Amino acid sequence: MNKYCFPKKKFLSKKTILVTGASDGIGKTASIYYAKYGANLILLGRNLNKLQQVKSHILEKCFFRVEIQIFEIDLLNINESKCLHLVKVIKNSFPYINGILHNASILGENNPIINYSSVIWQNVFKVNIYSVFLLTKFLLPLILESVNGSIILTSSNVVKKGKANLGAYTTSKFATEGFMKVLHEEYRNSSVRVNCINPGRVRTKMRITSFQNEKKKLFLTREIMPVYLYLMSDESIKDSGKVFNCQELIK
Ligand code: NDP
Repeated sequence: MNKYCFPKKKFLSKKTILVTGASDGIGKTASIYYAKYGANLILLGRNLNKLQQVKSHILEKCFFRVEIQIFEIDLLNINESKCLHLVKVIKNSFPYINGILHNASILGENNPIINYSSVIWQNVFKVNIYSVFLLTKFLLPLILESVNGSIILTSSNVVKKGKANLGAYTTSKFATEGFMKVLHEEYRNSSVRVNCINPGRVRTKMRITSFQNEKKKLFLTREIMPVYLYLMSDESIKDSGKVFNCQELIK
């Protein structure tokens, strides 16, 4: 499909995009590609050093003159006052946000529900879905200030069929798709669009540490970027309420 090829240069210029989990894996690569195509960035992560490295890498490559703000936040401890502070910091540099990529997630433990740690279950929900709710709630006014805002959430193959022994992660990804559908309905008559990306099997820290003996072919993070770029660009303004499955779209 042509629209999932790498697009012409700079088609995200004048856009400001916030990425969670920007310090590694898919979020890091998406941040690099968004900058490569001209977007200003707000990078969220729990490790300031790693975020600074991503920022330096992007600025060293000198793609374009893009502005990059980094914000250290552990999504495990996110709360309303941290969100208010984030909004205040963003407003010092940017009048609005054009896009949010909710990308950060944790996998939790590998255990059947009967043995699943309730602390880890709560942590997975805090990072994977509660933070998505809070950030969306507080950032929506900034998104609504922009024209054609795009909110992307991150789903997974585990939603196709409940994944045994990954109960918290799987349930949080079902909740992610549910959240996307609700937000899509709430903004149906606005220019804001809300979609999920299911990245498929991608070679990242999360994948390698959790599925060590996996034999199936894995995407490199850059291979799935056309979908991440498409959904942040004005090419996708008519798309909302959908799940974009990279395994089906990228051949
Ligand atoms: P990685 O583990 O490689 O990266 C996750 C990112 O989220 C890192 O930047 C990590 O920060 C950050 N993060 C984790 N916990 C927190 C926290 N408490 N606060 C702030 N940031 C945090 O994962 P992937 O890149 O593989 O995954 C990205 C998304 O894609 C996830 O939503 C995942 O569920 C989804 N996905 C991935 C698949 C795959 O095959 N890789 C398959 C299906 C879905 P730090 O650098 O500090 O660790």
